[in-house]
Amino acid sequence: MKNIAIIGASGSIGTQTLEVLRSENELLLTGVSVHSNLEKLKEIIMEFNPRAVAVTDERKYKEAIELTQALRFEGELSFGTEGLIRIATLPEVDTVVTSLVGMVGLKPTVEAIKAGKNIALANKETLVAAGEIVMQLAREHQVKILPVDSEHSAIFQSLQGSSKEEVSKIILTASGGPFRGKDRSFLQTVTKEMALKHPNWVMGAKITIDSSTMMNKGLEVIEARWLFDVNYDNIEVYVHPESIVHSMVQFCDNSVIAQLGAPDMRLPIQYALNYPNRHEAVADELNLLEIQSLHFMSPDKETFRALELAYIAGRRGGLQTAVMNSANEEAVELFLKDKIRYFEIAEVVEEAMERYRNLGEISLDKVLETDIEVREYVRRKFKEV
Ligand code: NDP
Ligand code: MG
Repeated sequence: MKNIAIIGASGSIGTQTLEVLRSENELLLTGVSVHSNLEKLKEIIMEFNPRAVAVTDERKYKEAIELTQALRFEGELSFGTEGLIRIATLPEVDTVVTSLVGMVGLKPTVEAIKAGKNIALANKETLVAAGEIVMQLAREHQVKILPVDSEHSAIFQSLQGSSKEEVSKIILTASGGPFRGKDRSFLQTVTKEMALKHPNWVMGAKITIDSSTMMNKGLEVIEARWLFDVNYDNIEVYVHPESIVHSMVQFCDNSVIAQLGAPDMRLPIQYALNYPNRHEAVADELNLLEIQSLHFMSPDKETFRALELAYIAGRRGGLQTAVMNSANEEAVELFLKDKIRYFEIAEVVEEAMERYRNLGEISLDKVLETDIEVREYVRRKFKEV
């Protein structure tokens, strides 16, 4: 039996992880956290009866206590950041699935690694903000960081059996999002409803907006840099509208190995949880005869400035990617609350990157301090403080 904890169990990835667990006999759900969705927590307790649960939104404190009493839940209930860390470090847990959104995932991920847990990582913002620190810690504590993001899972699968020295480049695929083929002036007209419709995937709101600006691909370039220890010069992005080839690796002999599958996150989740083994399918089957043709093209870096910003931040190094990530998280939140316009997201990210350029050496505390400062800067700029 392998014990699993999920932080952010109520979201899109969290829910799909539960679907995988339903069909796996050797995986036991031991701990979960939700932020505010107590309805989902109720379902999880009734179906899986985990040993420990946490609710991170402190405003839900009273309601959560009432809920667990009404359910006669005999396990542990904890709250806030401490609760999140408790779930991520439960003694019997082997693998922690990080499926919460944003760099709030950083602290619990760090604590889980220190406690010797393997990480099935969906929460890419953690690696963007502090990839150097997280990967170093994982090496020190000899834990695995197993990618859940479909592109990184594809790369990870394609890399099996080869050595790092044999890799010449990584090719990340991108659907191009709902605004593929549009120009800069079109971005002025984009509304929240338009940006929240992704052509191939149903996901949480933040990543859906990031996919439409292509910041998601930018975050993934940085995620790949840290997961696979490759230089930015050796990471390319191809737009591939069908989302069937999830990414590729080119080797020193020019052989290219790719992983294909239906666009279904249950596959990379299942692979991360059972690595290095493969189990009976949970995800949908791929039917290439029906799809017939696959297309690849260069991304439009002028319209989708965010992708280029990620390369710039990554090459600058240090705290620049943390600055970029925090500015983006705050800007997307403001956009989702109708406080700023769509095109202002990339603009304010670029401004923040220029303003916070020389912040010195990276450390965990510095990343957390920078997050607070950059978010305040973004809110001040739009007079939200
Ligand atoms: P969702 O918005 O669907 O879910 C987010 C989860 O995080 C929920 O469980 C939510 O709790 C919780 N959460 C929100 N705010 C906080 C907070 N302040 N503290 C603690 N927990 C919080 O997101 P997704 O599942 O789409 O994405 C999760 C992560 O996975 C992201 O980093 C995303 O980039 C990545 N990812 C997602 C993919 C997808 O297909 N969805 C694909 C690849 C990567 P509650 O709902 O209870 O409030
Ligand atoms: Mg992805």
